[in-house]
Amino acid sequence: MQTAANPLMPIPGAIDPVPVPRAVTPREDGRVDLLGLARDQIRAVLESAGLEPKQAKLRAKQLFHWLYHRGETDFEKMTDLAKPLRGWMAERFIVGRPQVVEAQVSSDGTRKWLLRSDDGQDYEMVFIPDADRGTLCVSSQVGCTLNCRFCHTGTMRLVRNLTPGEIVGQVMLARDALGEWPKGNMGGSMASTIEDEDDDAPQYTADGRMLTNIVMMGMGEPLYNFDHVRDALKVVMDGDGLALSKRRVTLSTSGVVPMMARAGEEIGVNLAVSLHAVTKDVRDELVPLNRKYGIEELLQACADYPGANNARRITFEYVMIKNKNDSDADAHELVRLLRQFRLPAKVNLIPFNPWPGTDYECSTPERIRRFSDIVFEGGISAPVRTPRGRDIMAACGQLKSASEKKSRAELDRLAAEKQAALG
Ligand code: SF4
Repeated sequence: MQTAANPLMPIPGAIDPVPVPRAVTPREDGRVDLLGLARDQIRAVLESAGLEPKQAKLRAKQLFHWLYHRGETDFEKMTDLAKPLRGWMAERFIVGRPQVVEAQVSSDGTRKWLLRSDDGQDYEMVFIPDADRGTLCVSSQVGCTLNCRFCHTGTMRLVRNLTPGEIVGQVMLARDALGEWPKGNMGGSMASTIEDEDDDAPQYTADGRMLTNIVMMGMGEPLYNFDHVRDALKVVMDGDGLALSKRRVTLSTSGVVPMMARAGEEIGVNLAVSLHAVTKDVRDELVPLNRKYGIEELLQACADYPGANNARRITFEYVMIKNKNDSDADAHELVRLLRQFRLPAKVNLIPFNPWPGTDYECSTPERIRRFSDIVFEGGISAPVRTPRGRDIMAACGQLKSASEKKSRAELDRLAAEKQAALG
């Protein structure tokens, strides 16, 4: 449904974005899934289920804490709620998680999950551990309309936008899988309301977490699902819940220029831009959205991005493709453009990760090094990203399509078996 607050933008691609107007996903059993709801939305569903407004406000605060700070999914374990209330809630609500279709761990520690929504849509998330941080790469859509030529997800059609619950659900599931929810006594302001907490349990500590950063860089263009991405990230950044600092959250766009200022104002996270080319011809080919919003317009929007400064630089993603965008001239032009727009910039050079059927090859290591040197000499940091998780096909879109292939093969096998049985 198109609303004034959420206009359906005309965009290139086979299919326009499909907005999902509901924040609450209806379930067959009639219960409401609270996953992804903000505090006020939880209060509203409690009120419509019959709680007094004052009660609903207090219970929403407690539930928010249990859901997003403790990762609890079982109302029976929410020990600061009176027992009868726990039962009342369990009859009316659930705290869901996306279904895991497949989970893989790479030899380098990268983890990848293929997830399934209640209506059977598959999407991916990837966790990339590093020495000083752990980054979760989160999807915003099932498929993508933008057809970036180097990207495997771009070969899939867009099915729909993910709901806030499905976006927040990825972070919750990663915390589950990493075993990162605090155990024991919550302490602090909630302690006085705890009825039968185990006193011997260890105190909660927030230190030493593996999941420290989030990048909206999985499947889909987050700025084509603006409202849901904003609402989901607000839940993720809420200090009473998952409490990720906005400095640790990055939104990556292919350059949806009209939405960039709003992203800065309403979400306020770090910005990454999929640049990938410095000339119109090449960027038109690699990122077809460039035909709509050209390089200069995009860089001007970056220069105007609220909150960008030398302490919070904008990251420019640049995938290195052999004989396409990797010449010395390209590197010099990149420096010139970033300087022209006075951008507080960092360039991430990404060796192209080939997938079956692609026309492109990765640049040679020498070429990538030379490109990086030129950009560094221009005064801009340009590290080369080490490819991660190649053994589990951790590049965006690859797990989903592998599973589709597998299920097709399975279907063939079943068909053959059926044929044999009939014969
Ligand atoms: S790079 Fe991002 S925006 Fe482009 S097709 Fe892939 S998922 Fe879509």
